[in-house]
Amino acid sequence: MGARAGRADLHIHTTLSDGAATPAQVAGVLARGDLDVAAVTDHDSVEGALRVRELLRGRGPEIVVGAEISSADGHLLALFIERDVPEGRGAAETVELIHEQGGLAIAAHPYFPICSLGDLAARVAFDGVEVANGTPLGELANRRARRRLGRAARARLGGSDAHVLGAVGHVTTRFPGRSGADLRAAIERGETWPAFDWGRHLAIAPGHVLRMAWLMLGELAAPRRRPEVAAPGSTLKRSAQTVEQK
Ligand SMILES: [Zn+2]
Ligand SMILES: [Zn+2]
Repeated sequence: MGARAGRADLHIHTTLSDGAATPAQVAGVLARGDLDVAAVTDHDSVEGALRVRELLRGRGPEIVVGAEISSADGHLLALFIERDVPEGRGAAETVELIHEQGGLAIAAHPYFPICSLGDLAARVAFDGVEVANGTPLGELANRRARRRLGRAARARLGGSDAHVLGAVGHVTTRFPGRSGADLRAAIERGETWPAFDWGRHLAIAPGHVLRMAWLMLGELAAPRRRPEVAAPGSTLKRSAQTVEQK
């Protein structure tokens, strides 16, 4: 194979979920970048991907429509879908629903401390495992995913999990070919491999970590509303419930 391998970032968020960059900003950075394929994967919605694809029409990388589904067992990526996949179902059922509409199901960041599948990633019929995820401080979890799941995984993938513009494309999935169809065939044959741009990873980490801390502070300051059980005025009880909920 003389030709260079294709480059795909398979995990990108926009402001339609919890990303900081709008679909237009993501489309702009993709148009200027060197990716061959990119999957936009907002939480539980294909809307961000559809908008980026529409904005790019004819420019930049080929857009794979996707979403990061909040299954009851943890996050998983649905790629090559066109319709939303329901959240809150078990991982096995969610994978079936993705396959029913012709999509591929990928176990996302399986060993992150929250919202993750853990060893379940090996027991459900995933088409691949994200063994390289670009979230800052995720390096140990990535190593664990490579060691525990890498050999048995049907395909090994990488994605930036970009929530800020600077992170887009810094972790990629490499594959023989250039197109979305080539990528899909490579995943199905288990011929993909992840690539990690450490220079960019370290350069963007401080901003990314600050943003995560800011979002967490926001969550703490304004906990999600839930039915009031404690007596009115009993703030102590209420905050205890909030902690339990996490
Ligand atoms: Zn996730
Ligand atoms: Zn994500």
